[in-house]
Amino acid sequence: MQTASVLQGIIQVAIPSPLPQTFDYLLPGGCSVAQIVLGARVRVPFGRGQKVGIVVALASDSRIDPSRLKPAIELLDDDALLPPTIQSLAQWASRYYHYPIGEVLSATLPTRLRQGEAAHISELNGEKVWSLNDSGQAISPQTLKRAPRQLALLQLLQQSEQGLNASELDAQFENWRGVMRSLHEKGWIDTDIQAQATLPSPAAETTPAPELNAAQIFACNAIHNALGSFQSLLLDGVTGSGKTEVYFSAVEQVLRADKQALILVPEIGLTPQLLKRFQQRFAVTIALLHSGLDDKARMNSWLQAKAGDAPIVIGTRSAVFTPMARLGIILIDEEHDLSFKQQEGFRYHARDVAIRRAQQAGVPIVLGSATPSLESLHNARQGRFQHLTLPERAGNAAHPTIRLLDVRQQKLTEGFSSMMLQAIQHHLDKGQQVLLFLNRRGYAPTLICHDCGWLASCQRCDAHMILHKSRHLLRCHHCDSQRRIDTQCPDCGSVDLRPLGQGTERAAEALAELFPHNEIIRIDRDSTRRKGTLQSLLKQVQNGHGQILLGTQMLAKGHHLPNVTLVGILDADQGLFGLDFRASERMGQLIIQVAGRAGRGDNRGEVLIQTHHPEHPLLNGIINHDYSRFANDLLIERSQARLPPLRHIALLRAEASRRDQPHEFLSAARDMGFQLANPAELLGPIPAAMEKRAGRYRAQLLIQTDKRAQLHNFLRQWLPQLSQLPQAKKVRWSIDVDAMEIG
Ligand code: ADP
Ligand code: ZN
Ligand code: ZN
Repeated sequence: MQTASVLQGIIQVAIPSPLPQTFDYLLPGGCSVAQIVLGARVRVPFGRGQKVGIVVALASDSRIDPSRLKPAIELLDDDALLPPTIQSLAQWASRYYHYPIGEVLSATLPTRLRQGEAAHISELNGEKVWSLNDSGQAISPQTLKRAPRQLALLQLLQQSEQGLNASELDAQFENWRGVMRSLHEKGWIDTDIQAQATLPSPAAETTPAPELNAAQIFACNAIHNALGSFQSLLLDGVTGSGKTEVYFSAVEQVLRADKQALILVPEIGLTPQLLKRFQQRFAVTIALLHSGLDDKARMNSWLQAKAGDAPIVIGTRSAVFTPMARLGIILIDEEHDLSFKQQEGFRYHARDVAIRRAQQAGVPIVLGSATPSLESLHNARQGRFQHLTLPERAGNAAHPTIRLLDVRQQKLTEGFSSMMLQAIQHHLDKGQQVLLFLNRRGYAPTLICHDCGWLASCQRCDAHMILHKSRHLLRCHHCDSQRRIDTQCPDCGSVDLRPLGQGTERAAEALAELFPHNEIIRIDRDSTRRKGTLQSLLKQVQNGHGQILLGTQMLAKGHHLPNVTLVGILDADQGLFGLDFRASERMGQLIIQVAGRAGRGDNRGEVLIQTHHPEHPLLNGIINHDYSRFANDLLIERSQARLPPLRHIALLRAEASRRDQPHEFLSAARDMGFQLANPAELLGPIPAAMEKRAGRYRAQLLIQTDKRAQLHNFLRQWLPQLSQLPQAKKVRWSIDVDAMEIG
């Protein structure tokens, strides 16, 4: 080992790169050791370019020959941009998920800070954005043949889903304002104010809390008692039981103690109502952190949270890493939601990171759900979480009744049984609303040749192309490739090609014919692509009567729709035979969450589920018992099958352009694993459920152990050796600790 001059000083820098180690640099020119703070950003030369890294340690020597060490270019912060708490959380996450520390630290930063921008709160908020409305989207280029500038601007707007602000328009279109005015006069333009990073605090008065019921009071007391030290509490409350009121009470206590609350939610775009409720209750700055914000807004929120200027911080998954000066509590709403697990790159689970963070910070964490994950229920049983239950709906609302509709041998009209149609009519006649759930967007799952049975499939995936009729195309939902709708069968030449099966677009079309006097509102990813659309559709639902709301799982997420009295699940069979061992858990959660939208107001709700398998034990478990019985049964199954949460797993995935390459790599990896001192159980390799995706072949190897520590010990020895395998060069591989989707 060579020793560099101590006076000179060496900094160890974590840099986003696939390499797991940190990198040594000399101090930037003109910079003294005293100026260096751990957790500050530094710009360094890296490879042929430059990168922004985080200083994680100071050293006086290096394994690299000192004459070969390069000086860093520039110190970007004069204090710790990432405070020690977040640095150590990131170190933990890097070890736990076996992911490079440089990548993990970088992932904790908002984009602009990651890119090296100065860490100052900048002016923003309330920027105007122009976008096309529905009629604008529908304009054919022919209409504007005589107005080429208008056509050009229209096409520019068509390309941007979020709309464009003035500076973006300035950059791309000369003198756009006059042209925009012409388009606006034609009624094709929407103007909107860009998403704001902080909700304006209502100046005047806030809505007071309702009088809490006994179960709510019990839960609130348990949380209040936990303040000031680490404890995990599972708030297991049926849909509409008033969990949000319990969160409010906890937040109130935390604010009173001059601390901050961090609230994690699944996908903020989907919960505008929750935000509004927070805003109505608390007259303080609420910082938001989610992907719908622009980069500048996000950076501001982050800095406000860090400085302690925002007492309430609400964000999605990655907000779990937001520095907070005075963290007092962490709340996770809908803790079972899959979106808390990042499914690529740094595959962390925000719930698990949050628990670790609460532990490090010595604050309580509350996990709320009507359908808790089996992981959390298991933890509660083991005594690691305090289990709080809210068994009844709050206020006057009662539990809905749930019935299965056996559709075997029944005539279906566009997927609707006559029993379902009658029930819909009945609820509409009373001026109530109906919510129909179909978890398939698009017009039909695919196109079939009526003469020979050919099915339209994706050329790059083992999947069918989904028919999107209104957009006149076939699209693959796995790789996003699309093509025009085939007019002739490539196998037999027949032109009799028909849509096969039913998606939301088709169901909406059928409903419009069946119920011509009622308004049909469709909510799925296609119908809510433009920003703000979901909000306005939900508002429309809240203000209207006699409407039919049709949608995908977007509808299952926590919306409070008090006029909905009938929930119809059009096809429960999709979820019954999933390959993933978590498929039944997910289906149960989804059905209960969707059913939970029924009868949240004063009228009792009814839930009807169409199925071809009315005797299926899973479905009966869901409708005859409460979720906890259903979950108990699943836990017993998991224990018998020796699966999580009773055991611990990781998944080694590999993909390549040739089918045999992932198998060769995974087999070699498995053989190497068997030779280690304390091998884990290794199962596979097997092809992924969808073996070919986006033109690449995928396979996987499952790693299982009884104890968590065993899993990590094994991975720590094994993973560094994998990159040395000759087969590794031919594949792209990754490790997924606590994998949530095994398919
Ligand atoms: P959850 O989050 O458990 O689904 P919410 O907190 O959204 O339930 O509560 C459902 C409805 O019941 C809301 O309209 C809420 O204002 C109301 N509510 C909650 N607690 C009470 C209570 N103690 N008394 C009366 N109404 C309540
Ligand atoms: Zn054919
Ligand atoms: Zn595809």
